[in-house]
Amino acid sequence: MTRKNSRVSIEILGSGREVGRAAISINYNGRKLLLDYGVNFDENDNPIFPGHIRPRDIEALVLTHSHLDHIGAAPSLYVSVFPRLIATPVTLDVSKLLLYDMIKLNGPFLPYDNATVDDMLGHAETRGYGEKITAGDFEVTLLYNGHIPGSAAVYVNIDSNTILYTSDFNTVTTKLMEPARLGGYKVNTLIIESTYGSSNHPPREETEKLFYDSVEEVVKKGGTVLVPSFSVSRGQEIMCILAERGFSYPVWIDGMIRQITEIYLAHGEYLRDPSILSKAANQFRMVKGWQDRRKAYKKPGVIIASAGMLKGGPSLYYLKKLAGDPKNAVFLVSYQAEGTPGRRIIEEGVYGDADIPVKARVQWFDFSSHTDQNGIMQTIKGLRGLERIILVHGDPMIQEELANKIKEEYDGNIEVLIPSNGENIQLR
Ligand SMILES: [Zn+2]
Ligand SMILES: [Zn+2]
Repeated sequence: MTRKNSRVSIEILGSGREVGRAAISINYNGRKLLLDYGVNFDENDNPIFPGHIRPRDIEALVLTHSHLDHIGAAPSLYVSVFPRLIATPVTLDVSKLLLYDMIKLNGPFLPYDNATVDDMLGHAETRGYGEKITAGDFEVTLLYNGHIPGSAAVYVNIDSNTILYTSDFNTVTTKLMEPARLGGYKVNTLIIESTYGSSNHPPREETEKLFYDSVEEVVKKGGTVLVPSFSVSRGQEIMCILAERGFSYPVWIDGMIRQITEIYLAHGEYLRDPSILSKAANQFRMVKGWQDRRKAYKKPGVIIASAGMLKGGPSLYYLKKLAGDPKNAVFLVSYQAEGTPGRRIIEEGVYGDADIPVKARVQWFDFSSHTDQNGIMQTIKGLRGLERIILVHGDPMIQEELANKIKEEYDGNIEVLIPSNGENIQLR
């Protein structure tokens, strides 16, 4: 409350009153520290970009993790000038794969190509957790935030302001990750994700056990379980749950999950316990082509395949092969956005243009890599000197509920903001 006329402002270029499309600029003296520059996708799967920023004004861009809603627009800033780029090595390696893949699918709608991605990554500085990085007047530190391997929260010191951007974060122990380590920091302004700001996840161990027991039930009766899964982190999480408990039936891995697993194993220090994933990768079978693919669904076992919402990729092929037999199962372990095939299977029990009924057992499991309301409140309590909280990356209705909860808890002593895209918040 002592700083008057701070010249620092926080500009919301994306993730204002929406999930995803993260893009937040901290502005000082005409210079900008850009935190993420991601995309969302419209109903036709075309990318929607965040608000414009002039690349030459950017002191540095920090990419917090490799999900497309945090990196998808970043190469567009590297067409003619090359702002500094800061990220962990895992984030950079996985980003390359995902951006190439996005160009394959959406090339004509993108203002960049593979060469631009290479240029961007060629200018990147890899940084680890806890290192103090100076970027102009900004002092930046990446903090462990528990979301996916290599992901980071960003702690920023600028003109006597301390700002923490959590990005997507998680506060529970998963197979791949430890809980976020954000406690104890002095933070005047907190920019926090609010994806699950009004609800709580069931305890993680219960979900893992329920999943494993359900898988065993199906295979023991001679069925095959299809697990459509996001390639980044979720697929590997499922691999670990099966490997750790000594699952003895065949497990097949198909789609981009394979390449990401290799990257994760090459950066084992970013995993909570690399030995579990390494055991899974050695023991499970990687689908290398159509011969394997045709073999995979013929015997009782598990197939972990991308994409997680059944919008494409090999999971769709397996669905067609397995859906007609009640012995089999489709276990969805990822978030299912509205209008996606995965969501339709859960809600209507059908798939495809011809509304083909799914006779296989269908079940959804909550393996979220985002924290929940309890996790958010605990994180807030763990910080010192909080003056204001800026909610981003959330549905507006959920954000309102979370804002009320925080205001109640703190008797109105902390300002809570739910900015829209385009808003520029002046820090006082
Ligand atoms: Zn996100
Ligand atoms: Zn994410």
